Amino acid sequence: MRCVICFDFVLPEVNWTNFLHVQKKVKICTTCFEKFDVIIEPGCPLCGRTDSNGTCYDCERWEGSAYQGVLTKNISVFSYNDFARELVARWKYRGDFTLIEAFAEAVQTKYKNHFHRLKADLVAIPLSKERLMERGFNQSEALVSQLGSSPHRFFTRRGSEKQSKKGRTERMNRENPFVLVQPTDRPVVLVDDIYTTGMTVRHMASLLREAGCPAVYSFTLFR
Ligand SMILES: [Zn+2]
Ligand SMILES: [Zn+2]
Repeated sequence: MRCVICFDFVLPEVNWTNFLHVQKKVKICTTCFEKFDVIIEPGCPLCGRTDSNGTCYDCERWEGSAYQGVLTKNISVFSYNDFARELVARWKYRGDFTLIEAFAEAVQTKYKNHFHRLKADLVAIPLSKERLMERGFNQSEALVSQLGSSPHRFFTRRGSEKQSKKGRTERMNRENPFVLVQPTDRPVVLVDDIYTTGMTVRHMASLLREAGCPAVYSFTLFR
């Protein structure tokens, strides 16, 4: 079979124990896999930033803002390096959705390690209608499916979501683009492809917490 990223042949090592599973598991070649930076804890205990010893500057700012405590923790699988950036461009702008399958195993393992006991609702980040039309799929829902769940659609989105090039504070103060349509009294894990500023997940987490959700975490493929 071929690697879903570079299309090189992948030759899985087959033995009796993996014989039945090997077809499903191997989606990516060793060369491609090694280009990813797997995030190894500890870094920032709140967001998983790797170049930080203890709580990072961004998290300190969040914790000193109106969003204090709304997000318990973010867990991400890989660093958002150049290779990851290229890949995200492929699925976002060319709708190369099957690429997400390459990460199934890494995503499942990381999720299990951190959230296994939580019994949380997995919540997808909604896309605007325009975005969904141009992309053809919702990457957040695709990741939830990789985790073997159906995404809970607790939120809708209002207005346009085009990321502005405005400053951080201005973005922070911008009106929350999400509307919570279904509150929950169970813990929630928000699932997305990338954690960048942490704004999206905090917007959602603040609404969930206000409506009685006991704890909100986020889980992303890249950080
Ligand atoms: Zn490859
Ligand atoms: Zn942090």
